[in-house]
Amino acid sequence: MQRSGRILVVCHCLLNANAKVRPLAAYGGAHLEALRPWLEQGVGLFQLPCPETACLGLRRWGMTREQYDHPAFRRACRGLLQPVLDQLAAFAADGCEVVAVVGMDGSPNCGAFATCAGFLGGEVSSPATRLDDQVAALRIAPGRGVFLEELAAALDAAGLDIPFWAVDEARPGRLRTSAESQPE
Ligand code: SF4
Repeated sequence: MQRSGRILVVCHCLLNANAKVRPLAAYGGAHLEALRPWLEQGVGLFQLPCPETACLGLRRWGMTREQYDHPAFRRACRGLLQPVLDQLAAFAADGCEVVAVVGMDGSPNCGAFATCAGFLGGEVSSPATRLDDQVAALRIAPGRGVFLEELAAALDAAGLDIPFWAVDEARPGRLRTSAESQPE
């Protein structure tokens, strides 16, 4: 019996950098630096859908958490997560250990411990809301992205106790395992 019975749930772009907003992406396809140790241990990877690509496609602008934090978008996230929850529950019932959910820190949707904030509002071409002011207001803020927040609530409701970890692209190759931890 070769199967490890262990699964790591990863945000979509950890296996497919092409889903990221252009020109983001510090790697070509899969984030091997972060995932190789787990692959070598025989841990299976379960890829989450990318909520931004699913809802806005690949021609989207980069946005902040405030912009995604809307009931309709959260409903869309819950819809995307329904089959995910069904499958994770099936793996758990089959005796698999779901080791962790690995998010992407800094993302407005998939950040586990850090997200992107600072929306000022309005037309970026207007003198009242200038683009450079908007750019200057952007910041990495502590907290979870919208999609992972919905996933955490759904896991909780399903009685699945799975820790959240994260890749920090500023310090690639190691995973953060708590809000306090540096990449290990
Ligand atoms: S929404 Fe999540 S999966 Fe999609 S590109 Fe952003 S971090 Fe990656």
